[in-house]
Amino acid sequence: MYAPPGGKTNHNEFPIPDSQRAWVLGEPGQLSITTKPVPVPKKAEVLVRIDAVAICATDLEIIYHGPPASIQGGLPFNKNFTPGHEYMGTVVALGAGVDEYKIGTRVAVEIHAGCGQCKRCREGMYTSCHNYGLNYGDVDKGHRANGFTTDGGFCEYQVNSINTLVPIPNEMSDEEGTLVVTAGTGCGQSARCPTSDPDGHARQSS
Ligand SMILES: [Zn+2]
Ligand SMILES: [Zn+2]
Repeated sequence: MYAPPGGKTNHNEFPIPDSQRAWVLGEPGQLSITTKPVPVPKKAEVLVRIDAVAICATDLEIIYHGPPASIQGGLPFNKNFTPGHEYMGTVVALGAGVDEYKIGTRVAVEIHAGCGQCKRCREGMYTSCHNYGLNYGDVDKGHRANGFTTDGGFCEYQVNSINTLVPIPNEMSDEEGTLVVTAGTGCGQSARCPTSDPDGHARQSS
């Protein structure tokens, strides 16, 4: 039975299979459905049952052309790679030591988990992690970017760092929940952009 070492599950309420259906990218433009193991959360990670996933224009860019995805340091084709970065779901298993989330919590999922050890991560700029994409072969700096450098959400279950989760209210639908991070990206850009006022509203151009 699926059981993360040292972690927690609740198979009565949220049964977890050992394998799942997942879309994988073959040649450019070719997605096919296959079976993959359900990933196991490590320390500071949870398993998310994916309840909804959006298809972003960037997903289409990746599927047809490759970049900005980078798998094993190169193009994402024929590497058993699962795209998808705009998803939400329900926490169904906790990695060892995780008490920040409860099983059954609905969450929106942020794309990036920085390595946590480079200068940029330590300054909070983890989306520009110096160890971006270094997580294959003998190298694993801990950086993750769902659907860009690691498997994403075009499947049934995915692991995520607890630092990349945002609980969402029950009034919010699954479909709306998939767009929380996308909306947050736009708001964040607007707040930092020199053409916006201090509240983050874009200035009227004259
Ligand atoms: Zn997107
Ligand atoms: Zn880093």
